[in-house]
Amino acid sequence: MNNNRADELKFKLSELGHSIEPKLVKHLDLEKCERIINRLVEFSSDCEACSKHFSDFENHLSQLLNQKEYINKQSIKDHTTFVSQIESHLTDQHDLVSSGHYTGIYMSLGLSLGLLFGLVIFDNIALGLPIGLAIGLAIGAGKDEDTKKKGKTI
Ligand SMILES: [Zn+2]
Repeated sequence: MNNNRADELKFKLSELGHSIEPKLVKHLDLEKCERIINRLVEFSSDCEACSKHFSDFENHLSQLLNQKEYINKQSIKDHTTFVSQIESHLTDQHDLVSSGHYTGIYMSLGLSLGLLFGLVIFDNIALGLPIGLAIGLAIGAGKDEDTKKKGKTI
């Protein structure tokens, strides 16, 4: 991957970020886009799919820039689908983990266990749920933090 292309793409991304409303920046999750682009640059010399995703991202971003005044619900949806396809390639093939991945998993696990234990042990769902949630959150956030330290977070 030549560095100019990487810089150019990141420049386009920040250009887009500066020319649309902050609310849209959040909807399009441009911060995550930047992290994904960095990963694509990192892997594209060894991975054909990443190199292809990078080119797709160039086209995709040019399109968004051209239509930046007309970004609507549908374009946000298309964008999210586009990004999540690349994200699944990165998590499946390159051993990366989406940010907040474990927190989500352990939170719902904690909730189910909390529900179960609340019923069985305390005979009180309202007591089990927050305990399960708190434990799930603590474990999940810890695992996410750990993944981040290892540099495996997208
Ligand atoms: Zn790849």
